[in-house]
Amino acid sequence: MKYNRVIVWFKNDLRLHDNAALFSACKESSEIIPVYCFDPRQFNEVELGIQKTGSFRAKFLLEAVDNLRSNLIGLKSNLILRIGKPEEQIPLLAEEIQAEAVYFSEEVTQEEKNVENALENALWKKGVQTRTFWQSTLFHIEDLPFPVNQTPEVFTQFRKECEKFSKVRKTIQKPKSINFPEISCDLGLIPELSTLGLQEPASSKKGVLPFTGGEDAAMQRLQTYFWENDSLKTYKETRNGLLGPDYSSKFSAWLALGCISPRFIYEEVNRYETLRKKNDSTYWLVFELIWRDYFRFVSKKHGSKIFSLQGIKNHVDNWRKDEKLFWNWAEGSTGIPFVDANMRELNETGFISNRGRQNVASFLVNDLGIDWRWGAMYFESQLIDYDVCSNWGNWMYVAGVGNDPRENRYFNILKQANIYDKKGDFIRHWIPELGKIPGFDIHQPDSLTKNELRSYGVHLGANYPHPIVAFSTREKWTSIKN
Ligand SMILES: Cc1cc2nc3c(=O)[nH]c(=O)nc-3n(C[C@H](O)[C@H](O)[C@H](O)COP(=O)(O)OP(=O)(O)OC[C@H]3O[C@@H](n4cnc5c(N)ncnc54)[C@H](O)[C@@H]3O)c2cc1C
Repeated sequence: MKYNRVIVWFKNDLRLHDNAALFSACKESSEIIPVYCFDPRQFNEVELGIQKTGSFRAKFLLEAVDNLRSNLIGLKSNLILRIGKPEEQIPLLAEEIQAEAVYFSEEVTQEEKNVENALENALWKKGVQTRTFWQSTLFHIEDLPFPVNQTPEVFTQFRKECEKFSKVRKTIQKPKSINFPEISCDLGLIPELSTLGLQEPASSKKGVLPFTGGEDAAMQRLQTYFWENDSLKTYKETRNGLLGPDYSSKFSAWLALGCISPRFIYEEVNRYETLRKKNDSTYWLVFELIWRDYFRFVSKKHGSKIFSLQGIKNHVDNWRKDEKLFWNWAEGSTGIPFVDANMRELNETGFISNRGRQNVASFLVNDLGIDWRWGAMYFESQLIDYDVCSNWGNWMYVAGVGNDPRENRYFNILKQANIYDKKGDFIRHWIPELGKIPGFDIHQPDSLTKNELRSYGVHLGANYPHPIVAFSTREKWTSIKN
């Protein structure tokens, strides 16, 4: 054994399976002290009075930490909890319990890096070692067929090179036992949402899934989606759906907090291919996980440029900062049902489909011309599955400031609605006040006569807004402001 006592600092790796930091600590130290720290900066207000972490994500996080603690207790260990800046709390704890080293996962983006660096400095002053682990991706950073600072700018090239020259490493086993010593320090409690300055989110039965945080719920979701409902074999055909639990995997929230590892999902896809079926759909789920890797490596390569208005493309454009229009968008009151229904889903549940995200993001940046970073910030707050690289990376691409060779990321909302919600069921689900409008007309209430609207109980400007943008042709919306 190299050490007597090591702290394992859990961050976005809230799991026991495939956890390199935990596994190595168990191998290299006689005693292990698992720790989680609730960082108050994550719950502050940012621009426009938006809370950095909204209630849905915070609740999911509390559940995930609670589940991790239970699972650690199941291994005769525990999880010490602290509220405060990790770079202050962890050195204090290390001193108090005389830990010799702190093991943790490596992050890639600026705020997280700043915390890691400050922690390393503080620990160094106390003579405490640190060791970081790469944990979040399907392909390990050391196995990339290029140095990370030469990550291909174009996804297809990235994917093809990884698929051809790299291999996904095997998952790391869950420790069988974790030696947690007798210590007298305070173990800490899971905070209430109110302690973090948040309210309990409203519970909605209309969401795609009742998301519960934690490794156990993640495993159960995979079990249901792959094995019980046998939905993986049709993933490619259904993944653009809008309603119901099984049009896509819904793994994202658990992946974002590391409750499930992408390599574990990969192994389960392989097992499914052997035991059930191998087809384009089974491959496509892995394909999507490679998108996730891509955004992470692009973020590592480009650093804080992913948060800048010009993005990694250094593309200068005119962006508006119109708060009124922005809040119309955010609150789902644009008068464009496909946008509003998706935003209502986000606000009422913390989740939104990939198709929905593409459309509402395109609407904000292309039709309203609003600073794309406001949209990304709003998603950061609201999304239960917020992942810094996937969120800011996808927003950059929609805004045309990523290095996407497809220049025009414009989504024609009506066309999209026509493809993905022809009968209007998605709108009926989220905007019941339009519910009586039959068929596709529900997507364009302003095209109906006053009499027709009255017969459906719709009063534009009263129980549903007039559109904030008008469309001159069925092809392209044009903004009525500016
Ligand atoms: C504007 C915008 C913002 C987004 N923000 C986030 C975010 O904060 N967190 C997040 O996890 N995803 C984000 N996405 C990507 C994608 O929409 C979600 O990952 C997906 O909808 C989650 O549902 P699912 O787990 O059922 O996905 P599935 O279709 O089942 O895909 C499986 C997994 O692949 C990964 N994946 C799929 N599509 C993408 C993608 N385009 N980019 C990166 N990874 C992908 C996710 O980890 C997902 O869980 C964003 C997309 C857009 C357009």
